[in-house]
Amino acid sequence: MSRIVVVGASAAGLTAAEALRREGYGGRLTLVGDEPHLPYDRPPLSKQVLRGSWTPDRTALRRADHLDGLGARWLLGRTAAGLDAAARTVTLVDGEVLGYDGLVVATGVTPRSLPRGHELAGVHVLRTLDDALALREGLLTAASVVIVGAGFLGSEAAAVATELGADVTLVDPLAAPMIRQLGPLVGDMAARLHTGHGVRVRTRTGVRRLAGEDGRVVGVVLDDGSHVPADLVLVAIGSTPSVGWLTGSGLALGDGVECDELCRAAPGVVAAGDVASWHHPGLGRLRVEHRMNATEQGTAAALTLLGGGRPFAPVPYFWTDQYDVKIQAYGLTGQEATFRVVAGDPAEGRFAGLYGRAGRVVGALGWNMPREARTLRRHVTETTPWPQVMTPAGG
Ligand SMILES: Cc1cc2nc3c(=O)[nH]c(=O)nc-3n(C[C@H](O)[C@H](O)[C@H](O)COP(=O)(O)OP(=O)(O)OC[C@H]3O[C@@H](n4cnc5c(N)ncnc54)[C@H](O)[C@@H]3O)c2cc1C
Repeated sequence: MSRIVVVGASAAGLTAAEALRREGYGGRLTLVGDEPHLPYDRPPLSKQVLRGSWTPDRTALRRADHLDGLGARWLLGRTAAGLDAAARTVTLVDGEVLGYDGLVVATGVTPRSLPRGHELAGVHVLRTLDDALALREGLLTAASVVIVGAGFLGSEAAAVATELGADVTLVDPLAAPMIRQLGPLVGDMAARLHTGHGVRVRTRTGVRRLAGEDGRVVGVVLDDGSHVPADLVLVAIGSTPSVGWLTGSGLALGDGVECDELCRAAPGVVAAGDVASWHHPGLGRLRVEHRMNATEQGTAAALTLLGGGRPFAPVPYFWTDQYDVKIQAYGLTGQEATFRVVAGDPAEGRFAGLYGRAGRVVGALGWNMPREARTLRRHVTETTPWPQVMTPAGG
């Protein structure tokens, strides 16, 4: 193998490139990224960058001299438009054609937008550094803010917007913030956390449309017909895998680039990070939009490309910070699992617990209890029987 192309120059793509070099790959290496920036970290965007406690340069994933050491060709601000998997070529929007022996697809995800009113001034999404800076600038002068979508991203932004002094309404069609990802008990805790900080939490209602005047957003019309005034709206209703450029390539595109256990999508093609849907040996088909996964899967995919891959079977890990609460979650923590507190006390704002499904432990979570959550993680790796952890010792 003498020519490897990585499309997507962020966490997963960079890690794949580093792993290739570490494993002794000495051939040509090209990274294509449609953003103008060198690789940077996204989690601080909705936390430190939005709050203003970090300048943008602190999000850089590596120092420039380290990147030089990779001996790669960086095509930044350049967009891949198509893949011919049979001919093994990637074509860029500007017409340049890159031949490859090995390809890493690491193009991440794209935020969903609302069907009506999304184009109004004052309406934001949050995915890139440029998005974060524009949102921060808007928040500094906004008096009333509506955040559409109370997943992790919307919830984190609600916390920061509140800290910056805005009057914030958080809207979601589900019963509680983050309920899909963390279940009803943690969702209720999150609702109380936000309400306690003055956020109006409007759950069980969707958004009918965004209302505008003279091209600027002035409010949000909810499904029940009520109007919430807003001079800034953040749309945080999830993302879709960035696979448009792969249409007609012959790759299987379901919910992302479909890969096998080794992260292989086609001969000579692997995928990693938010865009990859792979077959997890223990958990079935999975696509994980978490920072740690991007790193681990970038490495795994690179090893596969060089012929030394192994089934990729991580315990998914995610964290989120909101106000003074830090949540760590391992494994499968969604609302389809049953959650039980096993340490601490929700009433005291510190607890850790386990998620069970089909008679086994499938997830662990800590709410301001990181050490306990890490300890509980072993029940996830060992798939401890649920009754065993639910029965007090000696009981
Ligand atoms: C605001 C924010 C906060 C987050 N907070 C957390 C957190 O607290 N904890 C956590 O675990 N995770 C968090 N995440 C998720 C985490 O950042 C992602 O899982 C991670 O960035 C995924 O890395 P990736 O390399 O797969 O994709 P990305 O980082 O999205 O990188 C993909 C890159 O490919 C580029 N690209 C797309 N299409 C093309 C194309 N056709 N041609 C060229 N380039 C292209 C994109 O522009 C992008 O630069 C957060 C994400 C965001 C946005």
